[in-house]
Amino acid sequence: MKTDRAAATRRAWLETMERFRFDPDVPASEAIWSPRLECCSRDELRSIQEQKLAALVPFLYENSTFYRRRFELLGLIPTDLRTVADLQRRWPVVTKDEMTQDVSAAPPYGTYTTVTNEVWRDNGWMMFTTSGSTGAPRIFRYTQNDRRLFTWAAARAMHAFGIRRTDTLLLCSGFGPHVFAWIAQHALTHMRVAWIPGGGLDASARAILVQRHRPTVLCCTPSYALHLARVMQDLGFDPAAQGVRLVFVAGEPALGVPQTRARIESLWNARMVEFYGCTEAAAHGGYSCPVGTRSEGPVFAHLSEDSQIWETVRPDDYAPTGPDERGLTVVTNLNSEGSPQLRFLVGDYTTLDAGACECGRTHVRAMGSFVGRADDLINVRGVKFFPADIERAVRSIPGVGDEYEIVLATDDGGMDVMTVRIEHSEHAHAAALIERLQAEIRTRVEIRATAEVLVPGTLPRTEFKARRIRDARRKT
Ligand SMILES: [Zn+2]
Repeated sequence: MKTDRAAATRRAWLETMERFRFDPDVPASEAIWSPRLECCSRDELRSIQEQKLAALVPFLYENSTFYRRRFELLGLIPTDLRTVADLQRRWPVVTKDEMTQDVSAAPPYGTYTTVTNEVWRDNGWMMFTTSGSTGAPRIFRYTQNDRRLFTWAAARAMHAFGIRRTDTLLLCSGFGPHVFAWIAQHALTHMRVAWIPGGGLDASARAILVQRHRPTVLCCTPSYALHLARVMQDLGFDPAAQGVRLVFVAGEPALGVPQTRARIESLWNARMVEFYGCTEAAAHGGYSCPVGTRSEGPVFAHLSEDSQIWETVRPDDYAPTGPDERGLTVVTNLNSEGSPQLRFLVGDYTTLDAGACECGRTHVRAMGSFVGRADDLINVRGVKFFPADIERAVRSIPGVGDEYEIVLATDDGGMDVMTVRIEHSEHAHAAALIERLQAEIRTRVEIRATAEVLVPGTLPRTEFKARRIRDARRKT
């Protein structure tokens, strides 16, 4: 009986999603992929959101132990959450900590997902993990339905950037278990835009690809856009003269940091656009439009409101913010079978504005775009990790003292670099420790760091709470 309800609510959710899949394959207009979904009135948008919500809530209740338990703890039943106002009034935000605890209690997938082993076997697509997660990584198994839904959502966002059939894109990313590169390449294929895979190559090889094959769109992190431009200059090529017209970035605050943006746009003689999302909520969400990326005027990103519900909350008590008040982003993801979250705290600071945009879209705008997350994640070149991950690497090596320090800096090329300073204990061989620690960090957080081994007693001793991080990065 329970299984019947689980399957029936899953089917009903999918049918609702299909009902609103307007313009699935090709753009309905040159400027806007789906005007029916991107330019409708705010009331119509709200109605679409609430019809999807009405299908999503029972689907979650019947298919996710984590959500079922939360309903029970709150004394609610699915029909208590019919509207966005109900959600805000009755459903406290879901945090990463809650999800991590859930994974620790029910490894390896947790119970916040609706994907069972049976669903995975029958209809699985790809498994992703959150980048740089702590002890218990949060894993997301996405289905074939997700592939279709994400591909379409990302294609619409990339159409809003101005990417067209006549472009060629260079994707400067490997294909690890991070969702972004995969979603970008699926969307490009859907849009029938040609692209060059730049995975597994160093910056010199990528620079030569740019110079030889003249991609019109570069896709990478903002740090990497700076780094690649410097490498091109070192090789004697002017990045501004290569014909790149769009630099499409993700993974780090970009448009929200005006000096970085200005430097990237001037080095490449190109407009910068950005994509914003998180693995927990279907990896799509925020997208640039031509108006929000003008060199004059305010910078902002739209948030895809026909497929998600976006709001901001206060950082101290997670209460909804007032109009024009800056807060942390929260998403209700209506658009995923594998990770359909209700009020997940993404946690980036921004200010939402529901006023109309000159581009014609009515999707809410994150003014000033995004400048950073509230929690203590360290972000180096788009790779995010916790100090505890470094601590684990340090602690896994025999012959290392108790103290360590993470120093973040900006090198001459504008690239973020990390040094981890440790002390050797007596008789340990410094060169061997350096090699070992660098390898450990690379394995654990997928980033190249420099290790520095000091004589015992050099680093300040921890007295109460350790201050492990020294962030000396240039605020460009
Ligand atoms: Zn716009």
